Amino acid sequence: MKAMVLNQLRTPLEWTDLPDREPGPGQVRVKMLACGVCRTDLHVVDGELPDPHVPIIPGHQIVGRIDAIGQGVDCLTMGERVGIPWLGQTDGTCPYCRMHRENLCDHPIFTGFTRDGGFATATIADARFALPLGEVGSDVSLAPLLCAGLIGWRSLSLAGDGKRLGLYGFGAAAHIIAQVAHWQGRSVFGFTRPGNHATQEFARTVGAIWAGGSDELPPEPLDAAIIFAPVGTLVPLALKAVRKGGRVVCAGIHMSDIPSFRYELLWEERELLSVANLTRQDGIDFLRQVPKMGIVTRTTEYKLQDANQALADLRAGRFEGAAVLVP
Ligand SMILES: [Zn+2]
Ligand SMILES: [Zn+2]
Repeated sequence: MKAMVLNQLRTPLEWTDLPDREPGPGQVRVKMLACGVCRTDLHVVDGELPDPHVPIIPGHQIVGRIDAIGQGVDCLTMGERVGIPWLGQTDGTCPYCRMHRENLCDHPIFTGFTRDGGFATATIADARFALPLGEVGSDVSLAPLLCAGLIGWRSLSLAGDGKRLGLYGFGAAAHIIAQVAHWQGRSVFGFTRPGNHATQEFARTVGAIWAGGSDELPPEPLDAAIIFAPVGTLVPLALKAVRKGGRVVCAGIHMSDIPSFRYELLWEERELLSVANLTRQDGIDFLRQVPKMGIVTRTTEYKLQDANQALADLRAGRFEGAAVLVP
């Protein structure tokens, strides 16, 4: 197999030949067809997440086909198309797993962070955490659904069912969730970097009824807001934009410091919460509805060996929507 390997934090990934791997008991080997590039991959490369592992193959939005099956796997078949998301494995026994909150597991394995991921021609996954994808939709168009879509979906669920929804940071996740929220009959308000008119226009094309800078207030108070950008200064701005009793959801795994703010921004029962990881049930619930929602993902394709370029372009905001690697 070939892979783009992170050998040292804060250095470019290296194109590497590796011996083929065999799936162990309960595992499958998946031949990569497409792998989305996520902001979390930047946090992995930059060493911004706790307890980084190197060397590691990043990538956790993997669309692939099963080409080897380990002992004891009976839920998947050879050649089946599956998605491998960020949550790679849980212990199943800790208090969080027992209360059906496996996204908070005490001993998780994360694809592309603590287990090798999808910036490779093949990957090994725990069969129980592989999500069957069926045959509807292209490999590239489905890849961004596996994190941007899934974490976005969980964030949207936690935002409640208010009609007026603000999305701060209009990248891969927001462009999917705007379409989902639109399909649910909500009104979407898109917030971008001040003055970024191109992305504001993009937000309108995927269903936002209003788009503006994050320093602006929406034309009417929001019921809820989701912050996808890893920028702590957005928290008080979003709190200011939601109504009494409104909710602000921080969707990212990493965020710059949140500046201090006046208590009255939180008062009147506004709520501030974060979203961590996903559960398998999130994946099943979301993917079951995807065919009905008519989501059109905007993707920019890169060859697998150009992963460093994809990461650099994501960092610089040089494309709208999501970057996807293909072998
Ligand atoms: Zn657990
Ligand atoms: Zn991700």
